[in-house]
Amino acid sequence: MVTTGFADDDHFHDECGVFGVFGHPDAGALTALGLHALQHRGQEAAGIVSYDGEQFSAHRGMGLVGDNFNSKEVIERLRGHTAIGHVRYATTGEVVMRNVQPLFADFEFGGLALCHNGNLTNSYQLRRQLVRRGSLFQSTSDTEVIVHLIATSLKESVVERLADALRQVDGAYSLVALSQESLIGLRDPVGVRPLVIGRLGEAWILASETCALDIIGAEFVRDVEPGEIVVIGPGGLKSIKPFDYASKRFCVFEYIYFARPDSVLEGKSVYEARKRIGRELARENPIEADVVVPVPDSGVPAALGYSLESGIPFELGIIRNHYIGRTFIEPTDQIRNLGVRLKHNANRADLEGKRVILVDDSIVRGTTSTKIVDMVRRAGALEVHMRISSPPTRHSCFYGIATPERDQLLAARFDIEGMAKLIGADSLAFVSIEGLYRAMGVDYRDPAAPRFCDACFTGDYPIPLIDAADGKVSVQLSLLTETT
Ligand code: AMP
Repeated sequence: MVTTGFADDDHFHDECGVFGVFGHPDAGALTALGLHALQHRGQEAAGIVSYDGEQFSAHRGMGLVGDNFNSKEVIERLRGHTAIGHVRYATTGEVVMRNVQPLFADFEFGGLALCHNGNLTNSYQLRRQLVRRGSLFQSTSDTEVIVHLIATSLKESVVERLADALRQVDGAYSLVALSQESLIGLRDPVGVRPLVIGRLGEAWILASETCALDIIGAEFVRDVEPGEIVVIGPGGLKSIKPFDYASKRFCVFEYIYFARPDSVLEGKSVYEARKRIGRELARENPIEADVVVPVPDSGVPAALGYSLESGIPFELGIIRNHYIGRTFIEPTDQIRNLGVRLKHNANRADLEGKRVILVDDSIVRGTTSTKIVDMVRRAGALEVHMRISSPPTRHSCFYGIATPERDQLLAARFDIEGMAKLIGADSLAFVSIEGLYRAMGVDYRDPAAPRFCDACFTGDYPIPLIDAADGKVSVQLSLLTETT
């Protein structure tokens, strides 16, 4: 894999989860637990860096949190009262150790460990400039750009350097950093990715989602605000807002699919949001049927909402094997197809002779829907009506959620009728963008109403795609393309 050039196609962009602890004797163990709760945000690799007042300790590895943080020895090596951790979901076929976070560097001011959830949209440009000025990159991760910008900043303090670095960066980022003095958390000015603050007794916690606070019994304090840097030290939490104001555009896909349903983000329960979207879907796209069946697990809350709204009974007509990872991490179509069969099985008794409404959260390339529709028919369903709890995904995400290039998105290639034909459904319908916003309690048509980042549905990108304009568009989303 080429790693020295900014333009290599193996450049990593990821979906990730971040976690941090300040002021607890079991900071390393708590971080491992927190990462467990965030495992859905990344399954390719996991890492933790801790600090004990004298030195940093690190443990990183490929694979799941449980594969890497599975012994007393490993946890005991993570000494100190502060720690940060990361789970990553790399979006290319190749995954290498040097990209595994937390990244760590020794600066003039001391050591700093850094974890990033999101994706920078001008990292190629910045990387090119930095390389020209003599920076020697060690990884292909866009996060390393931030490390070099901190190193070359002329500001004094860690926090000022971090702010200085990030003022030069475009993109989506929720960051957690660990310096010798403090635990630092921050979100980009638009607030695309989540980050929450919690407390466990006297200790402070930072986490991508509230489900990671629950797992350690921490109390939710508040979300880190878009454009806010929180600096947690022995004196408590200090908040700084060093960036120019931008209006908030939290990622609506976190509610639709990505976040865990037991999390509360930006004041809204993910589970309740999914159920409300399911209700909107039923109101907008009713159909006579005998049973509402979710594609598990992601389709479950929306299917419940659909069932409640339509009065059509909800059944678990498809059973999921929980010991198989998300099919998207498989690199080839052949394995992915196999993966779908491994992952789901039809519950024949509840499908045979029935008119079935199948509910899933999204159609990306159509692989899952095609398999499931076929599976449900083979189990004896009379009709199969597919209902999707998001608008058609017509545009790629450049802000940290793996989606394929546009030309591979089914909804970018076909109209709804064409898609229905392709996946073999008797009918297919999506919730409208207005319905989605209504479910989130927002009037889409009101120009003064708050907005989400909905670029994957509308093509309205709230943060400039600098690298894309430079022809560096395709690389981030190679997860779903053929890599072999
Ligand atoms: P596809 O099979 O390509 O149409 O993808 C749709 C399925 O993948 C749905 O069941 C979604 O729950 C799931 N999904 C949607 N977006 C993503 C993503 N970014 N990463 C992993 N899975 C996803």
